[in-house]
Amino acid sequence: MSKEVLECSFCGRKKVDTSLLIAGIDAHICDRCIQQAHGIVVEEGSQGVDQQLSKDVMLKKPKTIKAFLDDYVIGQEHTKKVMSVAVYNHYKRLLQPVTEDDIDIQKSNIIIVGQTGTGKTLVAKTIARMLNVPLAIVDATVLTQAGYVGEDVETILTRLLQAADYNLEKAEKGIVFIDEIDKIARKSDNPSITRDVSGEGVQQALLKLLEGTVVNVPPKGGRKHPDQKFIEVNTENILFIAGGAFDGIERHISKRLNMQAVGFSASKKENSLEKDQMLRYIIPRDLKQFGLIPEIIGRLPVLTYMNPLDKGTLRSILTEPKNAIIKQYKKLFEMDNIELIVTTEALDFIVDQAIEYKLGARGLRSLCEAILTDAMFELPGGDQTTLSVTQQYAEEKLNKATIKKLKAVS
Ligand code: ADP
Repeated sequence: MSKEVLECSFCGRKKVDTSLLIAGIDAHICDRCIQQAHGIVVEEGSQGVDQQLSKDVMLKKPKTIKAFLDDYVIGQEHTKKVMSVAVYNHYKRLLQPVTEDDIDIQKSNIIIVGQTGTGKTLVAKTIARMLNVPLAIVDATVLTQAGYVGEDVETILTRLLQAADYNLEKAEKGIVFIDEIDKIARKSDNPSITRDVSGEGVQQALLKLLEGTVVNVPPKGGRKHPDQKFIEVNTENILFIAGGAFDGIERHISKRLNMQAVGFSASKKENSLEKDQMLRYIIPRDLKQFGLIPEIIGRLPVLTYMNPLDKGTLRSILTEPKNAIIKQYKKLFEMDNIELIVTTEALDFIVDQAIEYKLGARGLRSLCEAILTDAMFELPGGDQTTLSVTQQYAEEKLNKATIKKLKAVS
């Protein structure tokens, strides 16, 4: 075949009329036809999202969701149960057929109260992983009301779009985790004192996102790209999970409880013992006292809490979750044909250090890293086939690493 007669086997365009003509075994295809075909493939693929999701959710009853969470999140039984139900209901709502009974199932957005490092983000991540839906993790502290320095709330959805590889349909069924929601609390429970731009304004801006609306989202985020075309994102079926430490909220809880418990005398000791456990009595009114506006609280109807991590929990976090820290290091060494053994005493020692220096669960990793860095540098390529980490070994390596530095990192 001579060069002039080459043409696209799909649309018949001559080679000269195309920018690109790709040859197959017995045919040719031009750039335009490739683009068109790609569009069809994408569209067909996204139509499958709904079906896939419904299959996934129907297979995953609350007990199955909880069992999955159990593999990754240690303890926090109450929250795991509450969230399994909330997530199940959320996706059931999303799949409900249109009926005539006028019963509109409300969104089950979630708010988790608990100290930093207790697993709030981990729970959100694990649920997104299980359902295979995109997850955006955003920090409420960077958000501002439109017109102020910072990020507009719409950029939350930019992140979700990015997490979904710009597949709009997937993004609209994704999960958004808003961290540090307590930091946008109104500074005073009395709305009339002053206008609190940073806090209340952001809460107001978040409202419409949480309840479900169509938002114009800048796909590239920020205000640096004024020419970008907005994408319309419907937040109706996006599950929002908010998390925050709410430092000092115990005071509101105990005040309320004492008020109700007039006549019961509790000794000082009992009171201090209870402080750690106080969160389990949290109710929406305490969030209002803390400075969340009632409308936000109303749109986060599922309220749950995380327990502080005690010694036993930290110890389990080291070795038990499916991707436990120690399991990860074992795997890393295994790839160099080295068996890593960490003695029980060494594990207890690591946990004690994390508690002593108030490093929490996040600190466990930095401690392990400090203990194992020398070995990870020295051993690969050598003859040694086992590394036994005893308490003495761990102590020596940590002394070298200076724990003060660790404290700064975590
Ligand atoms: P938060 O969002 O509450 O500040 P994260 O979820 O980011 O805390 O937790 C930090 C890290 O600590 C996680 O990546 C995880 O490794 C570990 N962790 C915390 N709590 C738990 C838990 N209950 N079970 C297993 N790992 C945990």
